[in-house]
Amino acid sequence: MIDLRSDTVTQPTDAMRMAIAEAEVGDDVYHDDPTVLRLEETIAGLLGKEDAMFTPTGTMANQTALRAHTSPGDMVLVSRGAHIDDHELGAANAIAGVTIQQLEGAGGMFTVDTVRAAVPEIPSSMPSSLFQPVTLLAVENTHNAAGGTVWPLGQLDAVTATAHALGVATHLDGARLWNATAATGIAEREYAAGFDTVSVCFSKGLGAPMGSALAGRSDLVTTARRFKQMYGGGFRQAGMMAAGALYAVNHHRERLVDDHANTARLAAGLAAIPGIDVDVTTVATNMVYFRVVGMPATEFAERWLEAGVASLPFSNDTIRVVTHLGVSSHDVDLALKTVSEVLDG
Ligand SMILES: *Cc1c(COP(=O)(O)O)cnc(C)c1O
Repeated sequence: MIDLRSDTVTQPTDAMRMAIAEAEVGDDVYHDDPTVLRLEETIAGLLGKEDAMFTPTGTMANQTALRAHTSPGDMVLVSRGAHIDDHELGAANAIAGVTIQQLEGAGGMFTVDTVRAAVPEIPSSMPSSLFQPVTLLAVENTHNAAGGTVWPLGQLDAVTATAHALGVATHLDGARLWNATAATGIAEREYAAGFDTVSVCFSKGLGAPMGSALAGRSDLVTTARRFKQMYGGGFRQAGMMAAGALYAVNHHRERLVDDHANTARLAAGLAAIPGIDVDVTTVATNMVYFRVVGMPATEFAERWLEAGVASLPFSNDTIRVVTHLGVSSHDVDLALKTVSEVLDG
């Protein structure tokens, strides 16, 4: 079986399992798990931030950040299709008590003008208490739902500077920030520079069994630690999992370029098949979204699965495929061959 559903389906490698087995552990709730502390230091350093906190999931990293940045009744700005809005089950509303305003922009990337327009200018004739405070801008890089797109650094820096000038804090959902760096060679810390907090994920392309981290200003991370505990994220001998994450960060970042090459090969192959509609211009990192002309996504995915390839119907007509460390270039060729067979059969 070739599993292209997501870069979350990776199996830990033998060397990673060794690192996990040999991990020195303590109790993360008492902040004395040495492997967790080493991971947190490593991530803070990589992202150029004062502090970092290990979390079980990316959703928890994002939601503790959101909660640390805001008060109930605040408004948070996010791109349309953002994970924080579409894939975290309404947590921003239900738990942080904030409302969300979606910002439009090609590839999930909006402009300075869009940010400005989203923050109301309060006329001096009106009481400011009549206006809902916009307190946080959250940016996603790479942008999952838009195709794994990578923000140009200049545009990213411009929107974060604009937000700060308007008194709006900034959070980067960098679940796949590693992929942005692999695609452009721009260091993670450069992408992170304009943000007060940044979340990154170890269980996607990096191939760790679980875990994310929230890095940022130490006062914000300290507040987020309280919410991590409140949300049930105090996970004791977490060094076992931090060891997998550390191994992934130290050994699997550079190989992401292989995933990107495999994705480019997959996208080009799909584009060459009659009946497959794919916009190769949106393919930037490790994922491809495509449509099968005249066939619902779920039907195609079922047939493709019978031929040995798992994919993810993302909507009624769109299928997502993602490459990762469990997918070779040979697998890509095999997957492409089966697409033709499925369409012909
Ligand atoms: C996967 C993902 C997350 C968090 O995922 P978890 O499954 O909770 O670890 C956050 N943001 C983006 C963009 C993601 O793709």
